[in-house]
Amino acid sequence: MNSADNMLTTDRSALMARLAAPQIYDLAVMGGGATGLGVALDAAARGFSVVLVESHDFAKGTSSRATKLVHGGVRYLAQGNISLVREALHERSTLLANAPHLAQPLAFVMPSYKFWEAPFYGVGLKMYDALAGKAGLGPTEFLNRAETLALLPNSKLVGPGGQLKGGVKYWDGQFDDARLALALARTAADKGALLVNYCAATDLIHQGGKVAGLRVKDSETGRTYDINAKAVINATGVWVDQFRMEDGQALGRDVRAVVAPSQGVHIVVDRSFLPGNHAMLIPKTADGRVLFAVPWLGKTILGTTDTPRRDIVREPLAFKEEVDFILNESARYLTRSPTRTDIKSIWVGLRPLVKPADDDGDSSESTKSLSREHTILISNSGLVTVTGGKWTTYRAMAEDVLDRSFAFGLLPSRAGGVTVGLKLIGAQATKHSISETPGIHLYGSEAADVLALPGSDNELGGGLTEAMVVFAARFEYARTVEDVLARRSRLLFLDAALAKSLASPVAALLRQQTGVDPALPAFLGLCDQYLQLPN
Ligand SMILES: Cc1cc2nc3c(=O)[nH]c(=O)nc-3n(C[C@H](O)[C@H](O)[C@H](O)COP(=O)(O)OP(=O)(O)OC[C@H]3O[C@@H](n4cnc5c(N)ncnc54)[C@H](O)[C@@H]3O)c2cc1C
Repeated sequence: MNSADNMLTTDRSALMARLAAPQIYDLAVMGGGATGLGVALDAAARGFSVVLVESHDFAKGTSSRATKLVHGGVRYLAQGNISLVREALHERSTLLANAPHLAQPLAFVMPSYKFWEAPFYGVGLKMYDALAGKAGLGPTEFLNRAETLALLPNSKLVGPGGQLKGGVKYWDGQFDDARLALALARTAADKGALLVNYCAATDLIHQGGKVAGLRVKDSETGRTYDINAKAVINATGVWVDQFRMEDGQALGRDVRAVVAPSQGVHIVVDRSFLPGNHAMLIPKTADGRVLFAVPWLGKTILGTTDTPRRDIVREPLAFKEEVDFILNESARYLTRSPTRTDIKSIWVGLRPLVKPADDDGDSSESTKSLSREHTILISNSGLVTVTGGKWTTYRAMAEDVLDRSFAFGLLPSRAGGVTVGLKLIGAQATKHSISETPGIHLYGSEAADVLALPGSDNELGGGLTEAMVVFAARFEYARTVEDVLARRSRLLFLDAALAKSLASPVAALLRQQTGVDPALPAFLGLCDQYLQLPN
């Protein structure tokens, strides 16, 4: 018997049988992104009974589309938001300690072409180090021209503002966002929570003017389930307003939307455009935005943008101006710069920007915009909505959600801080960096379990073996080809053409494991979208 025999399976019929069993949960969470999963884990770790439903796959929303930085937020420092930065730096080190196989330190270099840039940004970054204190990952260093070129060999000798003068090196972190989301889900399950993907919350259940649960629908069978819960947490990201409005209607109140979505585009190009082990940060592009070039899983991520959108679509398309902006800005700093034909994947994430509370004008909710940029709203009926913030601070956000739920009387108070030292499933230090091509090291302490499965020596491509597909189906909630090739492995995000070429064998393997249709045609269409250059 290998150790996989002792692991918690994600067999769907068993999950649905648990969902059908009558129970009053302490918490029912809607949304399986960083925010909802963080709440589920914290609550389960404190001994509360928890159910979480996700309408699609875990991290299918914004949480798989981040720039992949675990960071304190240098730009908040420039805004003078010291407490926010200090807290994020603290969360950064907590995350790196609890999931070292998926989140690691990364050195960044800011090249400087104007005489004032290095001293100006360098002083700010020294302050960043000071705020990090013991949580610091390494000291900020001033670099001369030769040192800058040694770390960023593809930097232009003459860039915006003149000759390359030097640069500043500082430390932050990077991570695999979708795999971290899975690690949160599986750790929460290990603590007793029930988590179900492909199961959408469709309605809130009210009793006596209070939210008392959820109606949910299994996307695979169409069957509906009623879930009773003392606290209902709306962690549906950019989609939170739907439930806030439904809640308002049930109470006869008019509730206005608080989320103003803004999209961020990333493009992925070959690693050769960013040789070396350092990320590049341009703190102020031609139009005042920040541009990152980040080495990630064997490729280079370039991004991002910040474009308001009115619609909230599942798979938003990049606008031509956004792709042009990223390519044009990269060309101002890189000697050999990528063109449209070098793009291997384009992905788009939606930020839930929250309008100021005063704009809401809704007296049925107690509003508190918290310093970490996230917002928690509790309606008179007790619906707890949490949105905004960032991946890096998911753990602290979860603590805030529980604290507010206690204060509102939804749950009996239980001491916090339990997730500070809680290692996530698979946690194991590794000598492999997240910047390197993907492989078995991303499974951390579970690598041996994956290697023990059939097909571990049969690589399909891009570091994905048959055994990893089997593992995804048995232990990581994977149901569709997209689940495997976009989020268990990240090939859709790294190289959409390669992902497309592997889709058929992955579909065949998944069907064998799950017995359900793995939605191959839909995934092939998605690959085309991730390769599509906007005109
Ligand atoms: C472009 C971009 C780059 C970013 N980069 C970084 C970064 O480098 N570092 C960092 O720390 N942060 C970063 N962030 C922020 C971070 O990604 C987000 O704060 C975080 O992912 C939000 O997570 P969430 O769970 O609130 O939302 P989501 O991840 O969107 O999760 C909400 C979930 O709810 C589900 N859902 C919707 N409706 C229902 C329903 N009816 N029933 C059940 N489930 C439902 C959705 O499918 C979705 O999975 C970035 C954000 C963007 C947009």
